[in-house]
Amino acid sequence: MEEKIKELKNSANGEIIVPQDKNYDEARSIYNAMIDKHPGVIFKCKDIEDVVQAVNFGRENDLEVSIRSGGHNGAGLALVDDGLVIDLSEMKEIKIDPDSKTAKIQPGRTLAEVDKATYEHGLALPSGIIGTTGIAGLTLGGGMGYLSRKGGLTIDNLLEADVVLASGEVVTTNASDHSDLFWALRGGGGNFGVVVSFTFNLIPVKNVYAGPMFWPIEKAEEAMKFYDTIIKDASDDLYGFFAYLIVPPGDPFPEHLHMQRVCGVVWCYTGPLEKAEEVFKPIREFGPPILDFVGEMPMPTLNGLFDGLYPSGMQWYWKAHYINELTDECIQENIKHGSNTPSVRSTMHLYPIDGKVHEIAQEDTAWANRGARWAQVIVGVSPEPADADKITKWCKDYYEGMKPHAAGGAYVNFMMEEGQERIKASYKDNYERLTKIKKKYDPDNFFHINQNIVPAD
Ligand SMILES: Cc1cc2nc3c(=O)[nH]c(=O)nc-3n(C[C@H](O)[C@H](O)[C@H](O)COP(=O)(O)OP(=O)(O)OC[C@H]3O[C@@H](n4cnc5c(N)ncnc54)[C@H](O)[C@@H]3O)c2cc1C
Repeated sequence: MEEKIKELKNSANGEIIVPQDKNYDEARSIYNAMIDKHPGVIFKCKDIEDVVQAVNFGRENDLEVSIRSGGHNGAGLALVDDGLVIDLSEMKEIKIDPDSKTAKIQPGRTLAEVDKATYEHGLALPSGIIGTTGIAGLTLGGGMGYLSRKGGLTIDNLLEADVVLASGEVVTTNASDHSDLFWALRGGGGNFGVVVSFTFNLIPVKNVYAGPMFWPIEKAEEAMKFYDTIIKDASDDLYGFFAYLIVPPGDPFPEHLHMQRVCGVVWCYTGPLEKAEEVFKPIREFGPPILDFVGEMPMPTLNGLFDGLYPSGMQWYWKAHYINELTDECIQENIKHGSNTPSVRSTMHLYPIDGKVHEIAQEDTAWANRGARWAQVIVGVSPEPADADKITKWCKDYYEGMKPHAAGGAYVNFMMEEGQERIKASYKDNYERLTKIKKKYDPDNFFHINQNIVPAD
């Protein structure tokens, strides 16, 4: 193998990193510090030619292969023990066409970088809520965030993708070329090949009226019910995700709230700014809130608002559900666990998946949960490795408690490695079609370090 790696180093445009190299530990570190995998080779690809070489090298040498873009995946699926990591984090080309309102983006870009580039043109791509997340993995799993109600999921704005298949062939996929693959990529994750370029539709969004609003934990029951009614009847211009948290002890939070347990909503209003105060009048009258940071801000500021609180290198454990209804019992179960978060950054978020997301049919993309109203994510987070067991236990208990109130399956981008049954439950009626497309494009399941779709028999 040593000889083969030497040859690869000579022919690659990017860097090849092996365990003996000084920068190996840095190259194998990802966002979630709970993951400690030791790949055999890391190929930091510079261009498509490199990606083709990497795929061929992995296949010809019978190596297990993982794909890394932003490195944010909670389960650590960007890395593989002993095998080859196809690392795309340095492929960062981005081209915005303001006339057609589209963006062509390579997989190494983060959400913050995409937001910054589109904002300059008064445009935005519906994506997620933390700027350091990779655009690639987020898109392939679905992509939900502040603009979901207005503009749909990230995949609903995907127009085209260039993909390096397991065979090493490069294909362009869109609604008319390789349309089966295009369908599968929109939610099917990294199962079908290495995506080396995404073309997205952008929507006009510049400044928004947005930010967090908190209520005391004692108000949680009323707050969840109030939030439920507000979002149910709101126009697609109003988005808000519900959260349980402990107020962080630092700026910009006022000292008297530091370390207090609260519930709250992070709002994002994309309608006419002159109407914002009126829209928020009934919201502000509820409670009233003990913290109200809602005001006008640029869209990229909102998308990066919590980046400082969640730097890379912390311990993370993830659990997730889809939820159809916030029944009284469901709310009580949330209060039980939500008011017992085990550390300052641990939290539960309820992301609405209605509005524009519901306008697309369940079978139109691989993402199979358009009938649900909420994606719930439960995350245990701490900078302290010693907290790993504590945050994991809290997540698992919360998850178990929510099972009777959940709709089945979970957003694949919020899952740990939870086995085939859970993956099938998440893709529902779309799973079988996915297995057939997997068989066509990756019959040997070469790309299996992911939420794996097993090729049909
Ligand atoms: C702090 C934080 C906040 C988050 N917030 C949101 C949110 O608001 N909304 C949301 O929808 N999700 C959110 N997520 C989840 C996020 O979508 C996933 O973690 C996603 O996997 C991140 O993409 P990445 O490129 O950073 O991942 P990586 O860890 O690099 O890759 C994860 C997996 O994606 C696949 N993949 C990545 N790149 C490619 C590629 N180019 N071609 C083929 N397959 C590829 C591979 O299977 C890989 O194993 C968040 C995650 C974190 C850690």
